[in-house]
Amino acid sequence: MDYDVVIIGGSYAGMSAGMQLARARRSVLVIDAGQRRNRYAAASHGFLTGDGTPPDALAAQGRAQLLAYGTVDWREAQAQRAEKTEDGFLVLVDGMSAVKGKRIILATGIVDHLPDLPGLAERWGRTVFHCPYCHGYELQQGRIGVLASSPLSMHHALMLPDWGETTFFLNGSFAPDTEQLAALRARGVHIQDGMIERLAGETLDVVMKDGRIIPLDGLFTITRILPGSPIAAQLGCEFDEMPMGLQIRTDSTQASSVPGVFACGDAARLAGNVALAVGDGAMAGVAAHRSLMFGL
Ligand code: FAD
Ligand code: MG
Repeated sequence: MDYDVVIIGGSYAGMSAGMQLARARRSVLVIDAGQRRNRYAAASHGFLTGDGTPPDALAAQGRAQLLAYGTVDWREAQAQRAEKTEDGFLVLVDGMSAVKGKRIILATGIVDHLPDLPGLAERWGRTVFHCPYCHGYELQQGRIGVLASSPLSMHHALMLPDWGETTFFLNGSFAPDTEQLAALRARGVHIQDGMIERLAGETLDVVMKDGRIIPLDGLFTITRILPGSPIAAQLGCEFDEMPMGLQIRTDSTQASSVPGVFACGDAARLAGNVALAVGDGAMAGVAAHRSLMFGL
């Protein structure tokens, strides 16, 4: 079957794009592998009407609302390849079947590469986070750590005092200069310049290499991000190199550099969240619809 639009990635951004197209009675296929970025967290915060809702429940509600429209199909699958054809795009799904779409929306998210510290990965989304707006409030102004991963961590360390008593763990990844030290001091940030051995404990203990144990309520760190899928690159989409990693370049309507290909959500913006993914997705859906009606 040929679809008006094939949406690759069926999380918050992709489903929001699909909603606009469904309401325009266009045929849509959503292909989703179900690896949402926030799947490690028990609750999603900050999205109006969904504040505190488990991420999967939020996604399930969105999917039920979207699939209520008769022109929307859904495949739980991995899209491997996409290529331009004469009249649209061909998408290879699960290595076997090919589907056709007149337009493509990429909502494939990103993958977080976590700092290599024993005990960190299993605490990701529980007591170790990257986004203060998502998980800072619930720490109840408690003891907060910032784990340096690069000079960018300076930004984190300067923000987090608004959420609690903040300790900046340099861990050999970053050495603030005199000016930066003064800025940290002005924000009341404590500095630990020793090396960390591992993270431990039910809540969170930072075990230093010198044997000291520093208890925290939560730890923040900046991850290195990689595109959630190679498909944008296969299609020839241009990327912007941002401090944390690559993002698909889009204009203000979420059109990528390749005609007929739109991109939205974390894949195409810096520092995304659910609300922004839903907003960008709605724009991408409307823009794809406009391009179907009026040409590219
Ligand atoms: P994602 O939700 O990451 O979804 C991308 C989807 O595309 C996935 O389902 C993936 O499987 C699919 N996909 C990728 N490639 C393919 C392919 N080739 N074929 C098929 N499917 C594919 N934000 C908040 O607003 N509040 C929070 O409390 C919050 N907490 C967070 C906690 C953690 C630990 C993390 C890491 C992030 C958190 N975020 C939070 C951020 C939030 O997760 C993202 O901003 C949001 O998920 C972005 O939505 P998206 O639709 O762009 O991408
Ligand atoms: Mg944008």
